[in-house]
Amino acid sequence: MVDLQGQYQQIKETVNGAIEGVLNSSAYINGPLVHEFQADLEKYLDVKHVIPCANGTDALQIAMMGLGLEQGDEVITADFTFAATVEVIALLKLTPVLVDVDPKTYNIDIAALKRAITPKTKAIVPVHLFGQVANMEAIMEIASAHNLFVIEDNAQAIGADYRFKDGRKKKAGTIGNVGTTSFFPSKNLGCYGDGGAIFTNDDKLAHTIRGIVNHGMYTRYYHDVVGVNSRLDSIQAGVLKAKLPLLDTYCNARRNAARFYNNAFASNPNISTPTTSACGEICDSCDCHVFHQYTLQITNGKRDDLHKYLLEKGIPNAIYYPVALHSQKAYAAARYKESDFPVTNELIKTVISLPMHTELDKKQLEFITATINDFIN
Ligand SMILES: *Cc1c(COP(=O)(O)O)cnc(C)c1O
Repeated sequence: MVDLQGQYQQIKETVNGAIEGVLNSSAYINGPLVHEFQADLEKYLDVKHVIPCANGTDALQIAMMGLGLEQGDEVITADFTFAATVEVIALLKLTPVLVDVDPKTYNIDIAALKRAITPKTKAIVPVHLFGQVANMEAIMEIASAHNLFVIEDNAQAIGADYRFKDGRKKKAGTIGNVGTTSFFPSKNLGCYGDGGAIFTNDDKLAHTIRGIVNHGMYTRYYHDVVGVNSRLDSIQAGVLKAKLPLLDTYCNARRNAARFYNNAFASNPNISTPTTSACGEICDSCDCHVFHQYTLQITNGKRDDLHKYLLEKGIPNAIYYPVALHSQKAYAAARYKESDFPVTNELIKTVISLPMHTELDKKQLEFITATINDFIN
């Protein structure tokens, strides 16, 4: 699905140099590289504050702690996402409220989101799924009308641009009150271990969060709030600092591969290729999708057969995600009705994700698409 080794070979000298620098400095934790990477990422995202942390799940949890969400507060998020999003809501004893997704973008459905708001709702967590920014303009309007916080789970869409109707552009993760990301190795900006970050333009929130990641300390050994220990280590920061200048090139390589797939499947009646329409209008040249995954739908009922066939042919593929969150044992709740999730319930049966990474070449893409078009016709 990914080719981390191939990518590493291209940047080996820079990355090895960064790692060796850390080893020679012994500044393994909170070394200068962490601050340098933080500043580089602030500049790249055009955001006032980046707070590095240990992983993307922590980033979400810390963002929610920083906003002062309390037991019983309702937090609305998408039913079709990786479990980390809902897990931290539940861990903090907040009440997760799962809603259906849009059939075109697979991101949170705006009408379903509106219907789910109650007097207890405190926050919305849009997930920029598979690399496509959710409809942030609509989400920010709803949040402002109901006085809700917006926490963008940007683990899959770092580098994506969101375009507002008036032409303004902002980087994914910098539009809501706070954004979070993951630097897990297979993410679009991945390190060689675990890593994550929180972004915000809010000075006060940034200050609160900087204390929370460090045991609730604002002055050494004075613990003002309950915190956690969540750090990005210097070696990972060195890897990320070396890779950040390549992020736009990486995103473009993914978009090129996605374009190849789209063209190859365009005339196949049983394959529905991903739609790019974050702002509500369909656009083919939009930068709002960075294709963390290339996920299409097999509409003739042969998805599971294709999954097995491709594995036999040595073509990696995966089902993201095979079970809706509202049906997971840990997150099922009496208030959910199957009729509230028609889209997610369909997607879990039809989606399949193909190899998507920065090192895909034409020969590989031709082999993958020909094999699929041969089997699904
Ligand atoms: C990967 C991911 C996370 C969690 O990131 P980790 O660094 O693995 O903790 C959270 N949300 C989404 C949507 C993800 O894809």
